[in-house]
Amino acid sequence: MAGTDRETGVYEVDGSAEGPTAVLIGGMHGNEINGYRVAAAATDWGIDAGRLVVVPLANIVAIERNAREGPGGDLNRQFPGGRDLETDLARAIWGVVEDADPDVVIDLHRSRGLFETHPRWVGQAIFPTRAGGAVEDAEHVIDAMNDRYVPSTMRFHRFAMGNVQDDDRDSGLLVQKVHLELGVAGFLAELTEFLLDLETQLRWTTAITELLLERHGIRRIA
Ligand SMILES: [Zn+2]
Repeated sequence: MAGTDRETGVYEVDGSAEGPTAVLIGGMHGNEINGYRVAAAATDWGIDAGRLVVVPLANIVAIERNAREGPGGDLNRQFPGGRDLETDLARAIWGVVEDADPDVVIDLHRSRGLFETHPRWVGQAIFPTRAGGAVEDAEHVIDAMNDRYVPSTMRFHRFAMGNVQDDDRDSGLLVQKVHLELGVAGFLAELTEFLLDLETQLRWTTAITELLLERHGIRRIA
């Protein structure tokens, strides 16, 4: 969207060896700091293999306002499956995803509450696509996060499996469209801000991103 107020960067990180392609997206919701800060940091990562295509600040107008939505509304409801997209920004982002021809797509988000404790919020969860072995990947990463990161005293912060994204054409979630139209692994990752300081949110969001990439053969080396 060069030349508009929604212009935002697309970055590519290449590993030295051949390998899969991952797309990493942050800032679909402009007040979800963990997502866009970790995606922005990833543009400087070294990886051992493959290719990482990063859109760290997807909804830059919303980020500048520190608001969930930009002028076009909730960006992560603008990716219906099997249909043309109605907003320029959603079209531009989907264009990046399609052009990358990804093996895996990761979309980073932040929740406010805890799973089962706060019914309005999804809590800490990973929502995988049905495609590409993503459900098994999500199970593995959820277990790893709960074993290695979430203190045993914080049982309500344990990560959970979100709804599997398969044949719902109308949710408008990016990962849903990834499933329906690309048929590859996709993940929407939600970290909570509830009782977690930003530093912890960033550390856990980084860990989830690294673990999901590792499952797809891309290892962070620096
Ligand atoms: Zn979000």
